[in-house]
Amino acid sequence: MKKVYLETFGCQMNVSDSERVATQLAADGYEITFSETAADIILLNTCSVREKAEHKLYTRVGQIRNLPRGKPMVGILGCVAQLEGETLFKKIEGVDFVLGTKAVGRVSEAITTVSADKEKFLDLGEREANYDWSVAAAQRHSPCVAFVPIIEGCNKFCTYCIVPFSRGREKSLPASEIIEQIQRLQRQGFREVHLIGQNVNSYRPQNDFGMEKFRGATAFSRLLRAVSATGIERIKFTTSFPRDFHTDIVQAIDENENLCNWVHLPVQSGSDKILKAMRRGHTAENYLRRVEVIKNSPRGISLTTDIIVGFPGETEKDFQATIDLVNYCQYDGAYIFKYSQRPGTPATEITDDVSSEEKTRRFIELEKQQKSNQLKVSAGLHGKILKVLVESRSSRDDEELTGHSTCHKVVNFKGSENLLGEIVQIQVTESKINSLYGKVL
Ligand code: SAM
Ligand code: SF4
Repeated sequence: MKKVYLETFGCQMNVSDSERVATQLAADGYEITFSETAADIILLNTCSVREKAEHKLYTRVGQIRNLPRGKPMVGILGCVAQLEGETLFKKIEGVDFVLGTKAVGRVSEAITTVSADKEKFLDLGEREANYDWSVAAAQRHSPCVAFVPIIEGCNKFCTYCIVPFSRGREKSLPASEIIEQIQRLQRQGFREVHLIGQNVNSYRPQNDFGMEKFRGATAFSRLLRAVSATGIERIKFTTSFPRDFHTDIVQAIDENENLCNWVHLPVQSGSDKILKAMRRGHTAENYLRRVEVIKNSPRGISLTTDIIVGFPGETEKDFQATIDLVNYCQYDGAYIFKYSQRPGTPATEITDDVSSEEKTRRFIELEKQQKSNQLKVSAGLHGKILKVLVESRSSRDDEELTGHSTCHKVVNFKGSENLLGEIVQIQVTESKINSLYGKVL
C-alpha cells in the first residue's frame, strides 16, 4: 500500500480541502501517514495570501528533496498551484504534479498518471459536476469539531487580495446538502460544526431546498436557523464580510443557543481613505454600527477581526485611525498582517510608499495595543462560567486538557482523559493574552 503524507498551509478552506483529498486517497487504497520520511508520495496544499506563505512552499520542497529516504513523488495542490500552474515545474525542481484549487478531486488520477508515464501532470480545471464534498470521520482534523464549507470563492476583489484569482467566483453549496452533512456529523458524534467560506454571509444558493421553513432577512441567516434546527450542540461560522453583515445574524444568535456567541468581522483599517483604496465596500462608521448591534446582544458575543497595516498610501494619521477603531471595538482577538504585495492584484498599481521598517513599526505598535486590550477583555471573564468543548490534552502540561468556549476562547484546565469530546462547565480563574485557565464545575 503506497503511503501519502499531506501537509496543509493557510486557511480553514485549505484544511477542509485536504480532509477531502485524504478521504478520497484512503478510499482509493492509499495509506495516509503522518511521517514524511515514511511517505512514497508527499502532497503540499498551498497558500498564496501573503508572500511569506508562498516562500514557505519553496523552502519545504527543498527540505523534502533532502529527505534521507529515496525520492518521493511530490504534488503541489491549492492556491499557489492554481496561480503558478506549469511554471512551478520550472521554478521548483522535483515537482511531479500540480493540481489547482478545484482540481483536487482528481488527485488519484494525478498519482497514477505520474506513476505510469513518469511524466509531469498538470490540472487547473473546474470541480467535477458530481464533486463529493463529504469527508470520512477518520480524516477530519478533530474528532469532535468539523468544518463544513457552505460557499467557495470570492467576488469581492479587495484590491490587495489574491483570493478571487486563486479560488474563483463565489459558489454557494445547496442548503439541503449542508443540512444532510450536519445530520450525518451528529450521528457520527461531532459536537461542533464550523460553517466556513471566504465570506459566509454572502451565501446565495440557487434554490431554497432545505431552508423553506426558515425565516430570515438574508439567505445566510435562514441557513443559520435551518442548521440550528438540526439540534447539533454548537455552530460557529467564519468569515463574515462587513458589507454583507445583516444584523439579522445577531438576532438569529440571540434566538438560538446552539449558534455560538462569536463573530469574526475583518475591518482591515480604521481609515475611510484606506478602506476605499482597498475597495472593501464599508466605512469605519457603518462597520461600527454593526459592531454596536453585536456588542448589544444579551448573549455577550465575542468579536474578532483581521487588520492590514502599511497598505500603500497609509499615512500616520490613517494608522492612528486604525488604532482608535481597535480601542473603540475592544476586540477579543485580532490577526494583524503587514501589507504584502501580491502580483496581479490591483493594489500593485499603487506606489507602495510605506517602507518595510515603517510597516514593522506599525505592526508592533498595533499588536502591543491589541494585546493590552485583549488582556483587559479576558480579565473581564474572571469568575465567569463558560461552556467548553474538550478537544485535546494540552501540549504544554500532561495533566491539563484544552478546548474552546462558545465565544471561541482557548480554555485550559486540569481534568481526566474521559472528559475528551465532552462539553463541560468551566469557571475562569486566570487569564493570559491568548488563553484562559479555569476549573471544572
Ligand atoms: N474574506 C475575508 C475578508 O474579507 O475579511 C478574509 C479572507 S483572507 C484569506 C484573510 C486575511 O488575510 C484578510 O482578512 C486580510 O487581513 C489578509 N490579507 C489578504 N491579502 C493580504 C495581503 N495582500 N497582505 C496582507 N494581508 C492580506
Ligand atoms: Fe480577499 Fe476581500 Fe475576498 Fe476577503 S473579501 S477573500 S479579503 S477579496
